Amino acid sequence: MILNGVDFETYLKNYPDENGYFGKYGGSYIDENLFNALVDVAKAYKTICKSAKFINELRRIRKEFQGRPTPVYHCERLSNLLGDVQIYLKREDLNHTGAHKLNHCMGEGLLAKYLGKKKLIAETGAGQHGVALATAAAFFGLECEIHMGEVDVKKQAPNVARMKVLGAKIVVVTEGAKTLKEAVDSAFKAYAEDYENSIYCIGSVLGPHPFPLMVRDFQTIVGEEARSQFKEMTGENPDVVCACVGGGSNSIGMFVPFLNDKGVEIVGVEPLGKGPQKGQHAASIAYGSEGVMHGFNSIMLKDENGEPDEVYSVASGLDYPSVGPEHAFLHDIGRVKYDTISDDEAIEAFFMLSKYEGIIPAVESSHAVAYAMKIAKERKSGSVLVCLSGRGDKDLDFIIEKYGDKYLKD
Ligand SMILES: *Cc1c(COP(=O)(O)O)cnc(C)c1O
Repeated sequence: MILNGVDFETYLKNYPDENGYFGKYGGSYIDENLFNALVDVAKAYKTICKSAKFINELRRIRKEFQGRPTPVYHCERLSNLLGDVQIYLKREDLNHTGAHKLNHCMGEGLLAKYLGKKKLIAETGAGQHGVALATAAAFFGLECEIHMGEVDVKKQAPNVARMKVLGAKIVVVTEGAKTLKEAVDSAFKAYAEDYENSIYCIGSVLGPHPFPLMVRDFQTIVGEEARSQFKEMTGENPDVVCACVGGGSNSIGMFVPFLNDKGVEIVGVEPLGKGPQKGQHAASIAYGSEGVMHGFNSIMLKDENGEPDEVYSVASGLDYPSVGPEHAFLHDIGRVKYDTISDDEAIEAFFMLSKYEGIIPAVESSHAVAYAMKIAKERKSGSVLVCLSGRGDKDLDFIIEKYGDKYLKD
């Protein structure tokens, strides 16, 4: 299939190009030292990712350690309740550690092994990426250094405890607002000082080249499995595939194997938070414009000075003011549609999926479920395949405290 000059038959070979560009998006906007270090990583990755040994080892890890393939599940009760559209879930909540993030962390860990690196470095906000990376480090016997803002360390005590139990070292960042942005700066600095020994492991399909490429490759297992599982169950492709978009890793992994399937509508779901007013959401594609941040060119939400804007979502995994460059590209050429779901719609979906299917979704994933529910109410027939990126245990305390009165009265 060809759309606006892009041939999806050969898409993976041509995008990104050798400098990490998807059209005008992507690239590597960082200082020279790091730029050169990442050029080396990109070169090494290009060779390693094609070797049978690497591919087979990653396959074995996915099966024996992560518990893949994760199933595709037909939500019969929820579908019947809403009408005639059939909703299916790709169960990344059943991946080890309870979310899709481990898919790229295990890939990054194995790459570090092949490159002879001793240490994995990353930042984390809510702690989900930190926990997944600490898990990978424990598996591979690598050191792990997680940079985290002081404010987040206090807010996310259970994840901090998990990381520590898994053997990671937490670097508490006390500069500025003491949250994710400062943690990113701190982690990049630590990597720049020690790139011979260590490798930086990004938390989503973002950052300078080659991260958007590597994370996409490692997450594509989600869509590959889902596409063939869905076909086996129903004999056809789904009419709609959707996933929530924070940085965009679970969604890109889900989408890529369907890009060349002409009849499949693909939708990325961004968080509308409390509404479209500035600072109340994190819907980067819906309300943003082109710009460079954190080392790559994409679509971002900017403040008056062109700096990354304040963002908000009830889902801490979705509140990022930009999006992976490949999403910006797929949006521009019109292959993927991006839509929004508010906090309230996501919370409603959280309770519905729990009650009608016995699956408590992550509040991030609830955005994608809410979108599927919306389609099920609007259309007369068809099927929607949702990427259920993670499980919701981590969100329970907060949701009960904030929304329990509304949803749990008997
Ligand atoms: C981190 C996270 C997300 C958002 O990240 P993406 O890179 O957009 O996938 C979504 N769902 C869950 C469960 C997460 O932990």
